[in-house]
Amino acid sequence: LLDFSSDTMSQSVLQPAWDYLLQHHQAELRSPLFPVVISVSTYLLLVTLYTLLDLLAPSWPALNSYKLHPDRPVTWDNIWTTLYLTAYNHLVYIFPAAVGQWLWRPPIPLPRDAPTLMSFLLGILGCMVVFDFQFYLWHLLHHRVPWLYRTFHAMHHQYLQPFSLVTQYVSAWELISSGFWTTVDPLLLQCHCLTAWGFMVFTICVSTEDHCGYDFPWSLHRLVPFGLWGGPPKHDAHHRMPGTNFAPFFSHWDWLGGTNMVPTPSKDKYVEEGLKGRKDKGA
Ligand SMILES: [Zn+2]
Ligand SMILES: [Zn+2]
Repeated sequence: LLDFSSDTMSQSVLQPAWDYLLQHHQAELRSPLFPVVISVSTYLLLVTLYTLLDLLAPSWPALNSYKLHPDRPVTWDNIWTTLYLTAYNHLVYIFPAAVGQWLWRPPIPLPRDAPTLMSFLLGILGCMVVFDFQFYLWHLLHHRVPWLYRTFHAMHHQYLQPFSLVTQYVSAWELISSGFWTTVDPLLLQCHCLTAWGFMVFTICVSTEDHCGYDFPWSLHRLVPFGLWGGPPKHDAHHRMPGTNFAPFFSHWDWLGGTNMVPTPSKDKYVEEGLKGRKDKGA
């Protein structure tokens, strides 16, 4: 009896949900296609929602007031151009990579036990800290080395005011780099597969939010203290002032590197004047 009660005590709060998934969706979860499917569908769902907001914003003043640039609506031309590259990247790179995984990677063994809530949350946090450092270095390098900037990163900087579809308006090399670390980091930290999927989905939510062009009251950067979390205003500033805010999640590497920049309305005005007529091709 004692054993039984201690077992129940130590059982993860995630166990019932994990048991349900194992019982009803085992085949899908074990498929190497599963991480690709959840990543792509999360991204498409989010950009659909944000794009709907972009289309409604011009005739919905309350919504428009949350925009970082209320005077610059997202145009259909913006949407088609970014949508075209998104479709191209998915068809030419992501879909074949997914088929390759499906053909050559064996099905993933699924553990019986769910991760504890603590190890789930700490695992995601750990992966984020590692990914943040990797992408900070990648990003810094691709701004400081002119050839790397021109060849791989300038494409993403064609938009001075990001909107959600700009998130994956990137070169194949940038897409592959970030996809690689998102896949490898949970393996390096020996996370449970549920934690790995949680990290993937969360990363997509954050990167899409960073580009969405809105600063909502529930945005994470308003909830995390000390300005440690980047958020949409800082990444938006990176698109206008490409020498600032390189890290994807946290601010500590930009603090240490002296590249942290918190945008204020007055600074914005000054910078927008300075960038007028420039297509932001220099690093
Ligand atoms: Zn960006
Ligand atoms: Zn950049």
